[in-house]
Amino acid sequence: MLIGIDDTDSPEGMCTTYLGAVLARRLIREGMKIREARLVRLNPNVTWKTRGNAAIALHVDGNADHAFDSACATVEELADFSCDNTNPGVVVADVQPDPAFYRKAVTDFCEIAEAVRVLDAAGAVYRGYKNRRGLIGATAAVASEFTDQTSEILVYRQPQRWGTPRRVDRASLFAAEAATFPHTWDTVDAVNDVVVCVPHTPDPVLFGVRGKSPSWVMVARQMIRSEEPQLEQIWVTNQGTDAHILTGRIGELDEGLSYRVQGVVIDAPLTTTGGHVSFTLRDGNHTVRCMAYEPTKNFRQIVRELVRGDEITAHGSYKKGSINLEKIRIIRLAEPAVPRPPVCTTCNKRMTSDGTGKGYKCKKCGMHAQEPELQKISRTLKTGWYEVPPTARRHLAKPLCRGKPEY
Ligand code: ATP
Repeated sequence: MLIGIDDTDSPEGMCTTYLGAVLARRLIREGMKIREARLVRLNPNVTWKTRGNAAIALHVDGNADHAFDSACATVEELADFSCDNTNPGVVVADVQPDPAFYRKAVTDFCEIAEAVRVLDAAGAVYRGYKNRRGLIGATAAVASEFTDQTSEILVYRQPQRWGTPRRVDRASLFAAEAATFPHTWDTVDAVNDVVVCVPHTPDPVLFGVRGKSPSWVMVARQMIRSEEPQLEQIWVTNQGTDAHILTGRIGELDEGLSYRVQGVVIDAPLTTTGGHVSFTLRDGNHTVRCMAYEPTKNFRQIVRELVRGDEITAHGSYKKGSINLEKIRIIRLAEPAVPRPPVCTTCNKRMTSDGTGKGYKCKKCGMHAQEPELQKISRTLKTGWYEVPPTARRHLAKPLCRGKPEY
């Protein structure tokens, strides 16, 4: 059977993955077998998410009625019901619900009634608490089919430490990344000298290591020194797979969805107050603003080097008229040139302007020329893919160390 759970945490605490890890251990104690534990990220632009819009699914062998009772009891014990925005959902399905629901939930927006229809069609048992919104994520989790997947080991704190500063040895995190990259990623951001994998929120997570397989995340995890954890769980995830990205066309983008679009840069990138960088991309008669926000740090340097005429593919979420960049591919670099007075063919001296629109004149021999010389501006930027640094990466965005997109 598949057990799905979502929407159990609040900004003050808890984490659905922790609850899932506790439930998995309880089910094992009840004699059940856990075949797989899934951490399923959904549309990152859903506004009522607490943090990273995650839901979990457990693939379990055992008695479905007992599993449903245990799942509900664990949610009732651990979920933060005091928060208005916490609306847990619990699903147990013997038959996997339609994966189309997962694809919609990771790329688009779903309604609670849609989730209920999908669950009823699959003959699932389910319980939605409070406004029942958690049923969306719980249904998407059990309906999920990954065309690509990664691993994450999540290490959870002892309950008495929740809300206190985390003790994780910084040097060991950098050493773990250095020893295992590119098989693991986003433990730290070496370029910006920032630890990425240790949260600052009051939830039970101590740290998490992401990587290509359970064995690689374990290699890195074993190098990390920290306070004594309560428990650890390796999750199969859709993180780092670009599962949220749709192929889009400028002029046909929907609010809150994430796209890759192709176009030509039509103005010089502008740095605004706060250090955000923006430029306009055009496809035919349509344009869209692209944003590299301040937290994308050194990525902005690449964006600032774009010029009018560069042809790029942009990845990111479309929000309030802008694409918030996650990565770009520079397909073709424009060859910008600046006009300057030509050299006189008789005297070999540079001419001077003869007045606006009147061309150029040689001061020595009086020779006239209409056209300027065009001087190419040399560029250091190269074609290829560029991404935001680990510190600014979204959970679902595929890091380039996993391979460049094939388009
Ligand atoms: P948690 O650790 O509790 O899962 P979170 O940051 O993942 O925290 P939630 O608290 O789960 O966020 O809130 C997200 C809410 O949005 C859930 O109720 C979930 O069912 C719902 N949701 C997720 N994806 C979609 C979607 N595509 N359309 C509509 N609602 C969604």
